[in-house]
Amino acid sequence: MVKINPHTKLLGLIGDPVSHSLSPKLHNYVIKKLGLNYRYLAFSVNSGDLSSATSGARALGVKGLNVTVPHKVSVVREVDELTEAGEATSAVNTLIFKENDLLIGDNTDWLGFIDALRVNDFDPAGKHCLVFGAGGAARAVVYGLARAGSKQIFVVNRTVANAEELVEELQAYSGSTELGYMGLEDFSFGKEMLDYELVVNATSVGLEDNHRSLWREKPVLNPDQLVFDLIYNPFPTQFLKVASQAGAKVVGGMEMLILQGLRSLQLWTGAELDREEILAELKKYLGGKNGSQGPHCW
Ligand code: NAP
Repeated sequence: MVKINPHTKLLGLIGDPVSHSLSPKLHNYVIKKLGLNYRYLAFSVNSGDLSSATSGARALGVKGLNVTVPHKVSVVREVDELTEAGEATSAVNTLIFKENDLLIGDNTDWLGFIDALRVNDFDPAGKHCLVFGAGGAARAVVYGLARAGSKQIFVVNRTVANAEELVEELQAYSGSTELGYMGLEDFSFGKEMLDYELVVNATSVGLEDNHRSLWREKPVLNPDQLVFDLIYNPFPTQFLKVASQAGAKVVGGMEMLILQGLRSLQLWTGAELDREEILAELKKYLGGKNGSQGPHCW
């Protein structure tokens, strides 16, 4: 690893809490591997200090910050410019401090999600997709699927008004992708499930309690379908266990987590990365099969 010297540039994570975060381990591994003169640290920042933390980082010449819970939405008001992804998702997970003093807010979750589909040999172009959830992560998933050319995205959420709002707001970015929505209570897990090549859990159900899942009954699925859960700890979630028993291929959220981090690192450093090679190394390095160290570990 390049020794810390007067030219070493700083990257980091702001959130509260950050003590379980995998991000410093992930980023410093890649920094070392590529011989970059950077270091990545985690900073616990409470909501009242968000503004002074971002202006302090700007004054100190920090090159980039990841943003996690609870600041992903509130940090939007601290930036000078939002990328299209930041605007569409109304959430920022990556701050880029430019040479011209501009602070750019971006969101790499959507790219991490699409990259994770692709490493699992799933091309979303022309596909029918079912997304459970209408929070920040679901927005990134829907935006990503639309950008990748999905034919149709159907959003199902507990609070139907939130699904409606998501669909209305993302319509402006969805191009020729058809968007629809429904309340979770009215949705059937029967043979209608076979209409979708991709099924995504972008809710937090199963995060804290691995016995819980969205399935009210056994879903009808087949081996041509991919079922993706954004939750990476626990792995597999109950959602994935049931989907796998029903015959579908399943993917957990760990690859997305790593790949969105690699996208941020590329934005800050401009480094060329072999994402698939580094992903394979990081999955082992971060702790084996599920790589988990805590319940909320960006
Ligand atoms: P969020 O904004 O708080 O949204 C939570 C979503 O879950 C909402 O749609 C909410 O529905 C739904 N929900 C919560 N409890 C529910 C219940 N009991 N029954 C049915 N639906 C319920 O959270 P988020 O930021 O979108 O994150 C969602 C999940 O994605 C989390 O588990 C997070 O860990 C994961 N995530 C993973 C990655 C990754 O890189 N792998 C990245 C981002 C997020 P209502 O609208 O009805 O409240």
